[in-house]
Amino acid sequence: MERLQKVMAHAGVASRRKSEELIKEGRVKVNGETVTELGKQVSHSDKIEVDDIPVEREEPVYFLMNKPRNTITAVADDKGRRVVTDFFPMIEQRIYPIGRLDYDTTGALILTNDGDFAQQLMHPKNMVKKTYIAKVKGIVTKKAIRQLEKGVVIDKRKTAPAKTKIISTDIQKDTTMVELIIHEGRNHQVKKMFDAVGYPVKKLTREAYGNLSVKGLNSGEWRELKHHEVNQLR
Ligand code: URA
Repeated sequence: MERLQKVMAHAGVASRRKSEELIKEGRVKVNGETVTELGKQVSHSDKIEVDDIPVEREEPVYFLMNKPRNTITAVADDKGRRVVTDFFPMIEQRIYPIGRLDYDTTGALILTNDGDFAQQLMHPKNMVKKTYIAKVKGIVTKKAIRQLEKGVVIDKRKTAPAKTKIISTDIQKDTTMVELIIHEGRNHQVKKMFDAVGYPVKKLTREAYGNLSVKGLNSGEWRELKHHEVNQLR
């Protein structure tokens, strides 16, 4: 059950505030009865009308995708490049990605049509933890790990402490695989953090968004989130 004005806003009738006005003006009916109080709760099966015109409601949907490389995290691209929603041709709902992964970054990406959910997840106060695996150029030192853990300055502002762990090093190829767990979501954050300590990122993947790992999903594959997974992220 959700508040009537929220459901109206979600369905694209008007903003929540404007929807409240429509209710107070007596222009909204639920199951044929005019509603003028703002506390009214409705479920998915309730029929809502505004000025006697039925409101088309989209079922909220939530997906976890394993984003491939060379794909834009957007719903359209003016240069005609592949976008993440191209992988959902059979989904009727107007879904969009939450947050961004770079064109060449792979891994866990959430897509939804639930604007409130997206806003909640993007809010700095409840930023979800994100687990990245970076392949960087050079053999990363313990000192660099400590710096990343404490926070480094990018774009003139220090990053919040990050959990950092060396997974493996390849002396011959001169590369290190590092796991980095952050809660923030600043622009190109992981690449900039590694740049700040002198190890350019060659490859980046987001292993997990919150507790949702992409393990089991091939590149470009996706699955619908389960109820409890959505609730866990809220
Ligand atoms: N940090 C980056 O630098 N790039 C991404 O795509 C995600 C996090």
